[in-house]
Amino acid sequence: MPASAIISIGNELLLGKTLNTNMAWLAGELALLGVPVEFSLTVKDEAEAIGNALAQCWPKYDLVITTGGLGPTDDDITKQEIARFFGAELVFDPAVWEHVQALFAARNLSTPQINRNQAMVPQGFSALRNDRGTAPGLAFSSEGKCFFAFAGVPLEMRYVFDTQARPIIRDRFGIKGSITQKTLHTHGISESALAELLAGIALPEGVNRAWLPQTGRVDLRFYGNDPNAIDSCIEQSLPLISKYVWGRDEDTPVSVLSALLKARGLTFSAAESCTGGLVQKMVTDPPGASDVFAGGVVAYANQVKLVLLKVHPETLAKYGAVSEECAREMALGIKILTNSATAISVTGVAGPDGGTELKPVGTVCFGFSCLDELSSATQIFSGDRNAIRIKAAEFAILHLVKLLQGKKI
Ligand code: AMP
Ligand code: MG
Repeated sequence: MPASAIISIGNELLLGKTLNTNMAWLAGELALLGVPVEFSLTVKDEAEAIGNALAQCWPKYDLVITTGGLGPTDDDITKQEIARFFGAELVFDPAVWEHVQALFAARNLSTPQINRNQAMVPQGFSALRNDRGTAPGLAFSSEGKCFFAFAGVPLEMRYVFDTQARPIIRDRFGIKGSITQKTLHTHGISESALAELLAGIALPEGVNRAWLPQTGRVDLRFYGNDPNAIDSCIEQSLPLISKYVWGRDEDTPVSVLSALLKARGLTFSAAESCTGGLVQKMVTDPPGASDVFAGGVVAYANQVKLVLLKVHPETLAKYGAVSEECAREMALGIKILTNSATAISVTGVAGPDGGTELKPVGTVCFGFSCLDELSSATQIFSGDRNAIRIKAAEFAILHLVKLLQGKKI
């Protein structure tokens, strides 16, 4: 199997200013193509660093890709260093220059002379058309190996990869099919507990399995070049973990909840305290939420819980706002207020302050009013304020999914 290496170039990546999403995206695409990334390094916009990185990667890997440093300004030196490394002279490519000028003209701008740099292409390399920006990609092959350089801007890099590099890679490495990848999304179980449940399942040749913990949940991915073997692994695994599985592949907690509600003609609403509207944001992020989402309130202050959600003062006095008693009343309150069929509520201590011995930071109570049934749950989430809020919002959504599916953890 051919293998690839990625060289990410850019000072901003090493200063922690920019997350290296290009590497993650390319690694995913190359894994699916069957040219997995086996080595990746990130270097500064510096001649020696770029030269060393190329010297480390090119002799060893079948495919080498660089991203970044192809801009017209003098801080971007990737192309010069590529030319130097491969011993190729930079030559003017009139077609690229025309394309760069056309991009400026389309925006009613004249082309700065500095952009002429971008039409310089190392001899023997092909310029890859970039319709999303002015820096073309570069492609070179020699002795069965392939080299690509892409601009750093993710949108441009992906465009050039999708339109031109992927077909070249397929062609050069004789790639016919692609790697099949199937994912089961789980919730309410740790990575290691999940692994224990599946310990008895042997993976046949051609099937790999990856445990991918996300914030508050774990994805289980099966991948390989034999789709039937992957399906049979999933068939064997599912019965052992079905109560934790809430979705597959592209499903999200919200898409699964929406589909379940829609299929039954139900709506839902949300009353949120510590999540401050996050559940409602998640639900309304994809278009079409109005089919299933009636509305909600952010009941942060007790006064709002009392007035809008009709939480009883005695409940707050006796159990406090972070309690399952209060959460149940909040859920019922929002369900009645919005006349929805189902409702969820969230009230907790997201931190960093406000924790007590009985209710430490991360304690979150949930109320669920699902048709005629009222229920509640308490979880103690780890992490910072942001992580606790995300985990709480997803728990609320996924727990309602489980109630609707008739499963309870
Ligand atoms: P460049 O092509 O080096 O001029 O990069 C242009 C911009 O793309 C940078 O300022 C970053 O915001 C972004 N960028 C560069 N490299 C990466 C990367 N590896 N991942 C995500 N964004 C990047
Ligand atoms: Mg740069």
